[in-house]
Amino acid sequence: MGAHALATAVIAAAGSGDRLGAGGPKALVELGGRPLLTWSLDAIADATRIESVVVSAPPGHEGAIEAIARGATVVTGGASRSESVARALQSVESDLVAVHDAARPFASSELFDAVVSALEDDPGCDALVAAAPVADTLKRALAGRVIETVPRAELWAAQTPQAFRTGALRSALDADAEALGAATDDASLVEAAGGVVRLLAWNEPNLKVTTRTDMRIAEALLKR
Ligand code: C5P
Repeated sequence: MGAHALATAVIAAAGSGDRLGAGGPKALVELGGRPLLTWSLDAIADATRIESVVVSAPPGHEGAIEAIARGATVVTGGASRSESVARALQSVESDLVAVHDAARPFASSELFDAVVSALEDDPGCDALVAAAPVADTLKRALAGRVIETVPRAELWAAQTPQAFRTGALRSALDADAEALGAATDDASLVEAAGGVVRLLAWNEPNLKVTTRTDMRIAEALLKR
């Protein structure tokens, strides 16, 4: 029986958390009495398709992250999310990598396994992205004036984890700081480089914690 390839998980956890207003890095803010980052680390520890973890830490907080992420490689994050991922990628040796935002504490071990195995099963695919169908009606607007209503049937909200062939992600991240700074996820850089990106429909809660309101929603979801 051929063994399944194992992936490295990269966690982007170097964000400042300014929009949360917690006065410190978001990854260390407590959710359910534990640092936000811990929830992702636990899911990854239970995932059968992940063999190792690299965490991108907020500059100056590497020690605090190391204390939480025992056994993980901790690197210093960069000025943008993609630069933080690029730095972490330097420590990745596996052929497959699953990139995840520490800001998504509800990503389950099943989801990590699902994106890695769906990528492995599709040799023509460079990246596999967890995504949910968009529920809202979307409008494009300029200075508050609606230009158009965008048909939502083909629209998906991209989440993390996102699984990649490591080589494809490495080449995609070999872009200038401006392109890296503008990217809001890693798959978009692979798309821009002409790579094949597919979606994995995911309807379980996978909230991204950005604001204080998100934190309240996350606390409520935890109590459920
Ligand atoms: O800022 P935003 O919420 O989009 O960040 C998404 C994720 O990227 C967060 O988990 C954050 O910690 C991470 N990030 C990072 N390095 C940065 C900025 C954000 O690792 N320079």
